[in-house]
Amino acid sequence: MPAEWGGRDLGFLALVRALEALGQGGAERGFLFALGAHLLGVTIPLARYLNDDQQREWVEALASGRTLAALAVTETSGGSNPVTMSTRADADGDGGYRISGEKVFITNAPDADLFLVLTSEKPDRGGFGLTAFLVPKDTPGLRVTPHRGTLGMEGAPMGTVALDDCRVPARAVVGGSGAGLRVFSTCMQWERTGILAGLLGAAERDIARATARLREKRDGRGALFEHETVALRLARMQVRLEGARLLLYRAAWEIDQGRRDLAGAATAKFAASEALVEIALDLMRVTAGEGWTDPQGLGGGLADVVGTLSASGTSDVQLAIIARTLGRGGPA
Ligand SMILES: Cc1cc2nc3c(=O)[nH]c(=O)nc-3n(C[C@H](O)[C@H](O)[C@H](O)COP(=O)(O)OP(=O)(O)OC[C@H]3O[C@@H](n4cnc5c(N)ncnc54)[C@H](O)[C@@H]3O)c2cc1C
Repeated sequence: MPAEWGGRDLGFLALVRALEALGQGGAERGFLFALGAHLLGVTIPLARYLNDDQQREWVEALASGRTLAALAVTETSGGSNPVTMSTRADADGDGGYRISGEKVFITNAPDADLFLVLTSEKPDRGGFGLTAFLVPKDTPGLRVTPHRGTLGMEGAPMGTVALDDCRVPARAVVGGSGAGLRVFSTCMQWERTGILAGLLGAAERDIARATARLREKRDGRGALFEHETVALRLARMQVRLEGARLLLYRAAWEIDQGRRDLAGAATAKFAASEALVEIALDLMRVTAGEGWTDPQGLGGGLADVVGTLSASGTSDVQLAIIARTLGRGGPA
């Protein structure tokens, strides 16, 4: 964040590396994901769309973490194509809007103070009819119901956000009427680029822990690490980790250059989530029974990272974004 909002004016690449370091240092995966959803899904990209009054009202509180944010886009009809959403915002003739609809699978929802809600204001205008709003949690008509029993990511509480004729003032509009898709795309560029950085750091930590254990654990012929199948599997994990990490760094560098490279962010997110799942599976293969019962959560890691295949858009949706740019010779 810029210094004027209490930040340190570091670039996005520096932020990605800091998140990675948190993961390497032992932060819990759900916490890292929840932090990323607040910081990368809303706070940092949002700041550039807010007018002076909105910045004064929200940015310092969001940047300091006193106010927790959630991005509310997905609906039960399907999150992959937000343009067809059914949450409606109607101008109430008094300068304000009335919002009705229901959002599902929203990270941080049970604890969030502020929701960035994507709505359809002019359905006949498709993507150009979407409008984003800032909706505080205490807005009459807004109700959050926590999702119970998610597969993993316990540290990242998730919930449903129901909006029943919620009235918001004109100053709740983000970026102007009809700018919702652009706001959402910016949030996705930042989130897809950075939200998995901490989990890659955690994977690096887990690979190192598994390697140390396999160097120490012995059978009749010596350390288990000496089995080529074991050592090469660990080497493959390292290659997947490094490849994903470099793609994140590249996408972060593009943001630092001020480029709107949506396909680059999709590439980074696709590579990172697929690598995390492959690494988690291979960790289970080499740590076997000890991994399954590990109190520090090697097995739990698999349940946590599977969710990353869908969060911020599924892997197939990332591929669809990348495919649209193929042969065009420029960023999406
Ligand atoms: C851990 C986690 C955290 C999440 N956090 C949030 C959050 O904070 N805020 C939020 O709004 N949402 C959040 N989500 C929801 C997430 O964005 C959606 O799950 C995702 O966008 C897919 O939407 P869906 O689940 O409705 O699947 P659907 O859209 O119903 O997709 C079902 C299948 O159809 C495929 N498909 C659909 N359309 C296309 C297409 N155009 N091209 C290719 N394939 C397609 C999908 O790839 C998938 O395989 C989160 C999800 C998870 C798992």
